[in-house]
Amino acid sequence: MALVVQKYGGTSMGSIERIRNVAKRVAKTYDAGNDMVVVVSAMSGETNKLVALANEIAEFPDNREYDVLVAAGEQVSIALLAMCLKSMGYKAKSYLGFQVPVVTDSAHAKARIEEIPDTKMRADLKEGTILVVAGFQGVDAAGDLTTLGRGGSDTSAVALAAALKADVCEIFTDVDGVYTTDPNICKDAKKIERISYEEMLELASLGAKVLQIRSVEFAKKYNVDVHVRSSFNENLGTMVTKEDKDMEAVLVSGIAYAKDEVKIAVMHVPDKPGIAAQILSPLSDANISVDMIVQNVSEQGFTDFTFTVPQADFKKALAITKEAAEAISAKEVLTDENISKISIVGLGMRSHAGVATKMFQVLAKEGINIQMISTSEIKISVVVDSKYTELAVRVLHDAFGLSGEAK
Ligand code: ADP
Ligand code: ASP
Ligand code: MG
Repeated sequence: MALVVQKYGGTSMGSIERIRNVAKRVAKTYDAGNDMVVVVSAMSGETNKLVALANEIAEFPDNREYDVLVAAGEQVSIALLAMCLKSMGYKAKSYLGFQVPVVTDSAHAKARIEEIPDTKMRADLKEGTILVVAGFQGVDAAGDLTTLGRGGSDTSAVALAAALKADVCEIFTDVDGVYTTDPNICKDAKKIERISYEEMLELASLGAKVLQIRSVEFAKKYNVDVHVRSSFNENLGTMVTKEDKDMEAVLVSGIAYAKDEVKIAVMHVPDKPGIAAQILSPLSDANISVDMIVQNVSEQGFTDFTFTVPQADFKKALAITKEAAEAISAKEVLTDENISKISIVGLGMRSHAGVATKMFQVLAKEGINIQMISTSEIKISVVVDSKYTELAVRVLHDAFGLSGEAK
């Protein structure tokens, strides 16, 4: 007998019919003799609706109350799935985050899981009960509800699998696995059979929302093999696992894009020590993560300082940056919401030169201007005008040989 953790995302839980389908799949795995913990997301679109309500009622919704609101969608899902399983004659029980408990820090809307005591779950599993756990939510030391950031149910599932030392962790979604790029924007995208934690971490952090980045961090830290697969068929999906020799041989394994960042430029800043810190510290104090940063070559003692932040933090970040800009006597703060970050990722880049040059040449040939660049050992990212997103992804996918035979 094995302990199986399965997670079903928003689309998979998107209607009563689909929840019935999920219940049937869960029942099948249970009937095969497994202990089951099932993590579910809100029905598709529900979390977006709740976020929109928060933004309608207040310009800067209170963090604590924001979490109370946006966690509501998962409560509906666990109840419906548990009801469905019970009506089919199975022992099932819904668990909200605090009932598990999934203990997190207090960083509302982006809380980190600190610990998941397993005593209560083990007792129920021993009774043969199927546990249906709300993804995305936790509880902090003060007993307040927290959420794990958008897409956080993936992290709930992997963290539960790690805490329970589960034998299998399956993430069921609306595509057949992890692809060489988003199959919804590139018809030539290919399913990847096995991908390393490192590459998946990069892809996830660069916009491939098929797995939330923290779920991959957990998987890597606790050595959980994560099987990403479709809830609509029985096909094997992608195994996210430890790096092996074969993986190193692939130069570029995937291409990611992110449209949810915005550019903020502080113009005509005095070029002297401490300026970068003066602009960026208030942002990190507000728990806003800055992604790409570019400082121009200085001209007559002045420079321009440009960076990107998540769209969701834009209003707050702009207000903070304007204040900092005034304090350092910068000329003005400019913004650009129409940007997109395109990234190529692959373990093979470690040992090959010329990958960046090829990427820049391919984009130049299409007349796509590069606004910002950042690199790491296994990825290269560029910021371009968002109208070129699909085109850039497609030409890079072709140029790096991903459109050919499946891997
Ligand atoms: P769920 O609701 O199941 O959590 P998500 O919408 O969060 O599903 O993630 C699945 C989506 O991720 C897919 O529908 C696809 O559009 C997108 N995606 C982006 N990049 C990739 C990729 N490289 N491989 C697979 N899917 C990707
Ligand atoms: N329902 C949450 C969201 O939409 C969590 C998740 O789906 O993983 O972000
Ligand atoms: Mg998701």
